[in-house]
Amino acid sequence: MANNSTGIAQSVDPSRLELTDNTGTQGVLRGHRCKSCNVSVFGLATFCQSCTSNDLEPIQLDKQGTLYSYTVVRVPPREWPGRVPYTLGEVELPEGPHVLAEVIECAYSDIKIGMQMDLAIELVSIPENNRVISVYKWKPS
Ligand SMILES: [Zn+2]
Repeated sequence: MANNSTGIAQSVDPSRLELTDNTGTQGVLRGHRCKSCNVSVFGLATFCQSCTSNDLEPIQLDKQGTLYSYTVVRVPPREWPGRVPYTLGEVELPEGPHVLAEVIECAYSDIKIGMQMDLAIELVSIPENNRVISVYKWKPS
């Protein structure tokens, strides 16, 4: 497998997935919580979309949530490096945010709304620029 020049894994988006070791397969989802109204969001935020307060604090989100919705993607985004077709799942976290990501280790016929999903972090090769990045996905609990 190709590796990046430093040998240290890189997150697909450090504002959303913070890696916690150098294997690139361990990490946590990050978000922000509004101190005024307690609403949480996934990833970056400069103000609260519920109450417009800018009194936000960074938080670590749960690694487990509930499948809220899903779809099968047969025509992926340009330069999608993974399997096709793939299942895109929308998982609701206990803190409130919904997180879209590929569902792995689950046959399409086995997927059910309401099932528990665990965060899974996979290394994905990007052949165009010879990099390997860590990507967050969902798998059945
Ligand atoms: Zn708020």
